Amino acid sequence: MAETIFSKIIRKEIPADIVFENEHVLAFRDIKPQAPVHILIIPKVEIPSVKELSGAEHSKLLGELIDAANAIAKKEKISEIGFRLVLNCGPDAGQEVYHLHMHLLGGRKMKWPPG
Ligand code: 5GP
Repeated sequence: MAETIFSKIIRKEIPADIVFENEHVLAFRDIKPQAPVHILIIPKVEIPSVKELSGAEHSKLLGELIDAANAIAKKEKISEIGFRLVLNCGPDAGQEVYHLHMHLLGGRKMKWPPG
């Protein structure tokens, strides 16, 4: 699978509004925000989508994405009012970028079911 624009963001070859970074995880504001808070949380390792996840190492990595989401939600002051985490997987879900990413959305009332 060819690398995506997110690999360039990880390597800081193109700019992004980075809000969180550690050894395995990077988070930055979505370029086309769908809510007042819209942040993409990604692993630094290249994994195309959720369906490629398997095994204990990936489970740990997913946990690290959730930990980052919780830390960012607190920093953005949406932890208590609520937020949504979204992982789009594949064409029917509307996945555009094939580098695993978790959307953290908040700062407005969300609707259900999603579109
Ligand atoms: P997907 O539809 O794949 O779940 O979401 C991909 C997201 O990446 C979209 O919300 C889109 O706006 C965002 N995105 C695509 N290219 C860039 C970029 O170059 N920079 C940033 N910050 N976000 C991007």
